[in-house]
Amino acid sequence: MFADAPPQTLPLAILGGTFDPVHWGHVRIASETAAALRLPEVRLMPSQVPVHRAAPGATGDQRLAMLKLAVAGAPGLSVDDRELTRDTPSYTALTLASLRAEFPQRPLLWLIGIDAFMHINHWYQWPRLFELAHFVVLNRPGFAVSQALSPALNEVWQGRLTQSAGALTQTKHGHIFLHTVTPQMISATAIRNTIAAGASDNSLVSLLPRPVLAYIRAHQLYRAA
Ligand code: ATP
Repeated sequence: MFADAPPQTLPLAILGGTFDPVHWGHVRIASETAAALRLPEVRLMPSQVPVHRAAPGATGDQRLAMLKLAVAGAPGLSVDDRELTRDTPSYTALTLASLRAEFPQRPLLWLIGIDAFMHINHWYQWPRLFELAHFVVLNRPGFAVSQALSPALNEVWQGRLTQSAGALTQTKHGHIFLHTVTPQMISATAIRNTIAAGASDNSLVSLLPRPVLAYIRAHQLYRAA
């Protein structure tokens, strides 16, 4: 699809998150969306300071190490550590501005679960986000689009929603696209709780890649205090 396109114009997708820890839900929604929307590159981007949520259980270095293990061998997936290496909070508007400065011509697509998107109107400089990237909103079990969006966010949603996947790669920013992935009944919270409760490896292997589980065991992460 982009065979003749110069690399500086190729779409770049980002899945931001805490990844505490990364799990199969993250890897699958990223891979599936990349295949469906023909995105050549999806970067998983761990946040340094969890500005939207409580403190994580693993350090930034540990979350980064687990992400690298998770994407090893996954075509098109990589890890971008820019939020961990800068000394300002992980505000998505600043992250997107840095990506836009680095890649002036590339369409930027921020992949986001509907659970996170519903609260985006509390993010730093949130209206600016749509001037920097498209937002690809992914379904997540237990959350529905019809769940109350704030009036301001609903207005943005109505104005920017597109049915055209092509619009996401033909323009550089500004659209919201609802994309349906295979439902993934997995959350990092549930994984942390399951490990803290003393679960065996057998009950965890369906939730996250084996090398990530081995890393968690080796570093004794998420065990009850
Ligand atoms: P926690 O349970 O700690 O909140 P999480 O499992 O939601 O973690 P995050 O790192 O917070 O993982 O999520 C990063 C991004 O991936 C968010 O946009 C989130 O909505 C999305 N996401 C995570 N898990 C799923 C899933 N199972 N289905 C769809 N989207 C998901």
